[in-house]
Amino acid sequence: MRPFQYVRAKGIDDAVVAMRGGAKCLAGGTNLVDLMKGDIEQPRVLVDIRRLPLARLTDTPGGGVRIGALMSNSDLAQHPSIRQRYPLLSQALLAGASPQLRNMATVGGNLMQRTRCYYFTDRSFEACNKRAPGSGCAAQAGYNRIHAIFGASEHCVATHPSDMCVALAALDAVVEVQGSAGARSIPLSDFHRLPGDTPELDTNLKPDELIVAVTLPPPAFGSNVHYLKVRDRASYAFALVSVAAAVAWRAGSVEDARVVLGGVAHRPWRVPEAERALIGGRLEPPALEAAGDAATRGAQALRDNGFKIVLARRAVEQAVRIAGGRA
Ligand code: SF4
Repeated sequence: MRPFQYVRAKGIDDAVVAMRGGAKCLAGGTNLVDLMKGDIEQPRVLVDIRRLPLARLTDTPGGGVRIGALMSNSDLAQHPSIRQRYPLLSQALLAGASPQLRNMATVGGNLMQRTRCYYFTDRSFEACNKRAPGSGCAAQAGYNRIHAIFGASEHCVATHPSDMCVALAALDAVVEVQGSAGARSIPLSDFHRLPGDTPELDTNLKPDELIVAVTLPPPAFGSNVHYLKVRDRASYAFALVSVAAAVAWRAGSVEDARVVLGGVAHRPWRVPEAERALIGGRLEPPALEAAGDAATRGAQALRDNGFKIVLARRAVEQAVRIAGGRA
C-alpha cells in the first residue's frame, strides 16, 4: 500500500472541504482498502468520515424513511422498519457479501463500491480502461463469463456488483449528497453510470460530494416482493444475475410492478418493458413469460456469457412469480 495522508473529518462541511483535490472517503473500507492494498486505488488523502452522525434511520414526514449513509449493511438489513416495510431491501442486503463484511460495510460505501471485473483487480493484466484509461479492456478478448449483457461499451463490459443497489432501484430510492456547491438529491436510477467512453467513472457523484443519506418513499408493494440472486456458490459471491421484483395488486390484477436486474450491466438495470408486460394482467404463465422476454430483449452476449440471457429471463419469471405469491 502506498503512503497517504489521513484526515479525520469533524463534521460534514469539514469532510467536504477535505475532499477537494481528489481525496477519498473512508467509511467501512471494505472495498477501498482492499483496492489500496492491491495498488489499484492510490489516494493521496483519505478522509475518515466514520465519526460523523450519519448512522441513523429516521421516518420521513411523507411516510418513507431516511437512511443515514454510515448505517452498516447489517444494521439496515435487521432494522425492524426495513424488515417489515421494505423486505425487498432486507433480502438484498442479506444476499450480499458475508456477515463480517456486512457488519463493516456502510450504505454509502455500498453505493460507491467500484464497478469492476477480475481483470480490474489483477494488475498482471495491463489492459483495463477502468484502472488505466486508454489501456484497453482485457475482458473483451479474455474470459468474459461474468460480464455485462446490457449497456456495455467497447471500453468496458464490467457489471455493478451490489445487491443493495438493485433493491434500491426497485424502491425508487433517492441519494442525498452534500458538496461545496450545496446539497442535491440524485435518483438512484441516475446515480450509477454506463461505461461509454469513460469507464473509469462509476457514478455521477462529483469529487467533492459526500453521500449523507438515502431516502425511500412510502412502501408501495407490501410483502409482494422478492430478491432472487443466482451465483456460482451459495454465499460470498457476486450475482451472475439477480432480480428485484415487486408487484402491487388490485382486484386480482397487477396494478404496478418493478423489475430490476443486477449482475448484467454497469449499473442496476431496471426494465420498464417487463413491468409493462405485467401491469393490467394476472400472474399467469403467459404474462410471466412475456415479462421474461421483455426483460432480456436487446441483450448482447459476449463470447462466454450467452447463458446469462437465458438465466436472466428465467430469473425474472421466477422472481415475479414468488413476489406475487404464485410460487
Ligand atoms: Fe477493466 Fe472494465 Fe475491461 Fe474489466 S471490463 S477489464 S473493468 S475495462
